[in-house]
Amino acid sequence: MITASPGTRLSAPAPDWRELWRGAVTDATELLGMLGLARLADRLPPADAGFALRVPRGFVARMRPGDPRDPLLLQVLPQLAELDEAPGFVADAVGDLAARESRGVLHKYHGRALLVASGSCAVNCRYCFRRHFPYGDEIAAAGQWRQALEHVRQDETVSELILSGGDPLSLATAKLEELSRGLAGIPHVRRLRIHTRLPVVLPERVDDALAAWLAALPLQKVVVLHANHAAEFDDAVDAACARLRRAGATLLNQSVLLRGVNDDADALAGLSERMFDAGVLPYYLHQLDRVQGAAHFEVDDARARALLESIRARLPGYLVPRLVREVGGDPSKRPL
Ligand SMILES: *Cc1c(COP(=O)(O)O)cnc(C)c1O
Ligand code: SF4
Repeated sequence: MITASPGTRLSAPAPDWRELWRGAVTDATELLGMLGLARLADRLPPADAGFALRVPRGFVARMRPGDPRDPLLLQVLPQLAELDEAPGFVADAVGDLAARESRGVLHKYHGRALLVASGSCAVNCRYCFRRHFPYGDEIAAAGQWRQALEHVRQDETVSELILSGGDPLSLATAKLEELSRGLAGIPHVRRLRIHTRLPVVLPERVDDALAAWLAALPLQKVVVLHANHAAEFDDAVDAACARLRRAGATLLNQSVLLRGVNDDADALAGLSERMFDAGVLPYYLHQLDRVQGAAHFEVDDARARALLESIRARLPGYLVPRLVREVGGDPSKRPL
């Protein structure tokens, strides 16, 4: 509770996350201009209507001006290399279409049903499988979550529900409340896990209403964030993480190993240390899904293993993520 005393100004109300969402940068030339890199504009690929640039302004503010190799910039800036054909890099890299059970439900692993809750994200990450995923009406939140809830209700082996996407926190909090009301009648679901990048790229999303929804949820709660570099954290992200923890969530992070972004031991160790400052433990470090247009981010397995060994030699065990790859048809993520 902030009380005004003489001479103290009340701080302005936090901006609404939906407005910040709508105000994201969507023009690559504008982004380069903001960073003093306008000279690079002639190296941009033709604007791609299917997977356009999108990045919230607060995330841009964490980039280093004047640095074309900035690890945050490289995650969002369209590159000519995306147009290269690369053998083995395909549209559905992890077999998600085959694993579809009913509308927006992916049930690949024992005990865990994953809902493709939303097709939207506040940021478009260039390495993401989502660039080719035909969401269409394959969204679990459609129709009051009815089909998804029915699937979960009928399968008593499902003890954990995972909200993924897209970004599930792109949904209105009222939509999430609709889900929790539906879950109230399904006693075998004990845990709700949320896979989200929003607390990192648009921390204002973790507002009072979201925190209240989470705190009131009578389930174990796990929030798996997605950050790839220590520079993605700032005070606002720390505050969002603190709120999620106060609401009772265990915070984990998954990263993708990305050439040029975090493929060195200093970057990976720095990320683990920085996320722990925010109360977040590393979970997975993913080898890149081999999606069309992302080949220039790939790090080969031998180097990936060597990097892991080198951070294991310098960090406490709990700050070392598990290096995994997702292989279609496997019963779990495959450890490397
Ligand atoms: C990654 C994934 C999960 C979660 O796997 P964990 O190893 O428990 O993190 C669940 N379902 C699907 C379809 C997934 O791709
Ligand atoms: S936030 Fe996640 S789902 Fe969305 S574009 Fe980035 S990596 Fe893909």
